[in-house]
Amino acid sequence: MTIRLVDETYLDKQRLVEELAKKHGYEPWRVRIFDMERASVRLVNPPVALIPPSLKQKFESATLIFQGNGFTFTTSETSSLRPDGSHMYTPYRAARELGSGDYLLQLTYDGEPVTEFDQLRLLDIMGRPSIYYFPFKDKPTGRPLPTYLVVNPYENCSYRCRPCSRLPFFHCTPHDYKDNVALIIREVLEQVDPIEVKFINIITGSQLTAALDMAMFRYIMDAFDAAGFSHCEYGVYTPNIESEADMRELRARRVVFFTATLETTTPEARARFYGPRNAKGRLTFEQIVALIRRAEGIFPYVNTNIMLGYESRDDLKRNLGVIVRDTKATINHFIPRIFLPSQYELIHPDARQLEYYIEMCAFIEREVNQGRESFGAFFNQRFGIPQFGLRFRS
Ligand code: SF4
Repeated sequence: MTIRLVDETYLDKQRLVEELAKKHGYEPWRVRIFDMERASVRLVNPPVALIPPSLKQKFESATLIFQGNGFTFTTSETSSLRPDGSHMYTPYRAARELGSGDYLLQLTYDGEPVTEFDQLRLLDIMGRPSIYYFPFKDKPTGRPLPTYLVVNPYENCSYRCRPCSRLPFFHCTPHDYKDNVALIIREVLEQVDPIEVKFINIITGSQLTAALDMAMFRYIMDAFDAAGFSHCEYGVYTPNIESEADMRELRARRVVFFTATLETTTPEARARFYGPRNAKGRLTFEQIVALIRRAEGIFPYVNTNIMLGYESRDDLKRNLGVIVRDTKATINHFIPRIFLPSQYELIHPDARQLEYYIEMCAFIEREVNQGRESFGAFFNQRFGIPQFGLRFRS
C-alpha cells in the first residue's frame, strides 16, 4: 500500500501556493513550508556527518531540520518501506548540492525545481529526540547558547498517543530516566559552567498520572539543584498535573514556565488519539481549560500545545475561542510530522488540504495569540535571551 501524503501535480501545486499566499497574506515561501511540513521531504543524499548513530544502519524515521529564507522548521523523512510493506510517498525531494562544502539543498517537487527559497539549508538530522540540547544558537557563530537548556530524559511515555512524532523511537522500559539524568548532568558540566545556565526546560515523555509526573519532575530538579544548578529556573510540560497543591509545589521549586499539553480539543479526536481505553483516564478539554486558569494564578508564564490536523476547522476554532475567552494562555501549534501510515490515517478529512494548515495557523497567530505575551518575549525579558530565530526543536 502506498499512501500519497500530498497529491497535486507540480503546476497545480505552484498555482495553489501563489493563490493561498495571496488569500491569507503569507509570503509564497512560507506557504511552501506549510506544505513541506505536512507532506514530509525525502532526503536524497544525507550528509553522513549529520546522521545520528541510531540511524546509521538504516536511514529512516528521521526528523529533518531546515532553514529556508531565515526560518527554521522541521519535516519528517518518511520514505522508507515499513516492515508491513506500506510506503508513504512524498513528491518533495531535497538533494545536497554536492561539493558545496555546506548543506545547501536543491529542492524539487515531482522532479521539478521549487523556486520560492533564496536558499534552503539542512541544519540537522535528528533520530530519536535528544536527551538534552541547547536550543538557542548564537547568530553570528552558530554556537549553542548555554542560557537555556532543554532536558528530555524520559525516553518512554506512558501514553503512546497514536500520532506522537516520537512513536518510532520508543524503545525503553517505562520509568527509565534516572540514568539519563546522571548522563545529562555529567555531559552538560563538561561543556558549560553551571552558572551560565539560567533556565532548564523539562520537555520529556509524560507519565501515566500526576503523581508519577510529580515524582519525575522532583527527581530531575533535585538532581540538577544538587549538581550546581540551584540558581536556575525551570519549565515543565505536562498533560496530567491539575491540582493546586502540585502546582504550588512546582512553583516553590522555581518552576516559572508551565505548559499544559492539550493536543486536541474534542472528545472524538481525543478518543482517536489515545484509543477508547486510554481516553478514559485523560483530562477532558474542559478540565484542561480549568487547570490553565488555575496555573495562571501560580506561574509567571502558562501556555498550551495543540496539534493541528486532527479535528475540523470549525471544532478547533470554536474550542480555541473558549481558551481565548477564559484564559490568558498562548497556544503553541504544530503541524504533525507523519512517520507511520497509522499516523496519517488519524488526520481529519478536513485537514487533507493545504489550506487547512494555513487557515488554522493564521487564526492562531493573528487572532488567538495576538496581544498575548509570546514565550519568546517572556524568555527575552526574564533570561535575556536576545533572539528567538535560531531555535532547534526535538
Ligand atoms: S504524551 Fe506526549 S510524548 Fe507521550 S505519546 Fe503523547 S504526545 Fe507523545
